[in-house]
Amino acid sequence: MVSYKKLGLVNTKKMFAKAVKGGYAIPAFNFNTMEQMQAIIQAAVETKSPVIMQVSKGARKYANPTILRYMAEGAVQYAKELGCKKPQIVLHLDHGDSYETCKSCIDSGFSSVMIDGSSLPFKDNIKLTKKVVNYAHKHDVTVEAELGVLAGVEDEVQAEESHYTKPEEVIEFATKTGCDSLAISIGTSHGAYKFKPEQCTRDPKTGKLIPPPLAFDVLKAVEKKLPGFPIVLHGSSSVPQEHVDTINKFGGKLPDAVGIPEEQLRKAAKSAVCKINIDSDSRLAMTAAIRKHFAEHPEHFDPRQYLTPARDAMKQLYIHKIVKVLGSNNKL
Ligand SMILES: [Zn+2]
Repeated sequence: MVSYKKLGLVNTKKMFAKAVKGGYAIPAFNFNTMEQMQAIIQAAVETKSPVIMQVSKGARKYANPTILRYMAEGAVQYAKELGCKKPQIVLHLDHGDSYETCKSCIDSGFSSVMIDGSSLPFKDNIKLTKKVVNYAHKHDVTVEAELGVLAGVEDEVQAEESHYTKPEEVIEFATKTGCDSLAISIGTSHGAYKFKPEQCTRDPKTGKLIPPPLAFDVLKAVEKKLPGFPIVLHGSSSVPQEHVDTINKFGGKLPDAVGIPEEQLRKAAKSAVCKINIDSDSRLAMTAAIRKHFAEHPEHFDPRQYLTPARDAMKQLYIHKIVKVLGSNNKL
């Protein structure tokens, strides 16, 4: 058993309470590689922002659970080395699919876990979430749960259609499970293809897709039922068109990739939404930088040559999100 406290990590409790009060959201950036992790920490330290580094079950397998534990410990030490006296870093499991996966993460240094029972019937979701909460809270680990279904593809999580969270269910769910935060579905979606063209309108000037707006009425109704309770938004990448264009320009093929407009996320961050998950945007920034680099330097083959600009591009993206979208800068 490795306690996250030994690694210098924190859970989400105080962080979320402050964020809800302060009208901002904590960035939850997914990562799989060392470069992503370095970029996340550099951006968080430079902007003086708390940060959630999160991994899916697939990412944990990719990185290896043992290496991950040391990476998280390394992240805390790295933040200190960069001049941050008291880093507020969470290591979070994204979309835990079973009690066993959550327990294994808690036992190996995670400070927060998500149990995603959103595809189960309501009663079964409560039962599974409660079981995870009971174990997690014994170890002072915080738990995110989910009600409602997001469309899109994310690692092993996949759904054809979204189902908005039913506000009338949230009080019973939060009370019976004891979860610390709740992911809801209000029209965000996983992946770089969040919407089908027929769900969108097209900008007559640029020909780009304009996605349907988020269901702020559902968010408002949830807030009313659970005042001050931390709400989480998944699938909240904006799919920056400059990165999509760069990828397509240098041999990629991402037609009609579309995300959630940043103005809408900013609006959500000012409400009870206190954690916003961003994954695809960092993948796009990295891929765009690498494609561009190879196109301009076909003779290069040292990974440092193309991973350095990729890491810088991700860092710039994270800083932009923290300062311009989430508002979590200067909150340490
Ligand atoms: Zn998600």
